[in-house]
Amino acid sequence: MIHTIAFDADDTLWHNEIIFTDTHERFRALFDEQCDPERVAKELYATEIRNLEIFGYGIKGFGLSMIETAIELSEGKVTGAQLQGILDGVKAMLAAPVNVLEGVTETLKELSGDFELMVITKGDLFDQETKIARSGLGDLFRHVEVVSEKSPAHYRTALHKYNLDPARFLMVGNSIKSDVLPVIELGARAVHVPYQTTWQHEVVAEEEYADVRFETLRSIRELPALVWSLHTA
Ligand SMILES: [Mg+2]
Repeated sequence: MIHTIAFDADDTLWHNEIIFTDTHERFRALFDEQCDPERVAKELYATEIRNLEIFGYGIKGFGLSMIETAIELSEGKVTGAQLQGILDGVKAMLAAPVNVLEGVTETLKELSGDFELMVITKGDLFDQETKIARSGLGDLFRHVEVVSEKSPAHYRTALHKYNLDPARFLMVGNSIKSDVLPVIELGARAVHVPYQTTWQHEVVAEEEYADVRFETLRSIRELPALVWSLHTA
């Protein structure tokens, strides 16, 4: 019996990765006269990942990583105009319209009548809260939990906070690494709904989950049928 269905937010409920991809391109363009674009991309990714444990996930930390990369690539000679370009990019990301993915609104409305829905997402608290408000989906969720990381321990804490039984909990998300594997490790269920692209950092080798059983859906529209099959099983 399923009681609570939790959703990841970025690239599960709405488009997100595409905003980062666009900003990566804008960043490369700022340095295209000084640096090889491939080197720019590699350095930025390396800085971003290195800084995750300092800044955490989210746009503001990514912005600081762009500034750090700009200083390194320019050997300290980054211009005010280039820094302004980076800050404009960060502000554009934070103000980007929330484009809810196809089928999400209808599916959540359908499920909300019978199940308790919640959001569990990484990222900046303020950014995620405003995105939920701007998405028009806010009223459908009983709980919203913004976490710094999605490890089994973080999920355990979130479930405990809302007194949720893992046996009656289902997580839905686009990342096998963050939304599926740690949840299954807790004895709860998880469903993978892939997005068109996956952030390099979230990619896991198939061998790592060869023995883990979970469903992958082509579209979130397939979720209600799956939930009911689990519910009555
Ligand atoms: Mg996601």
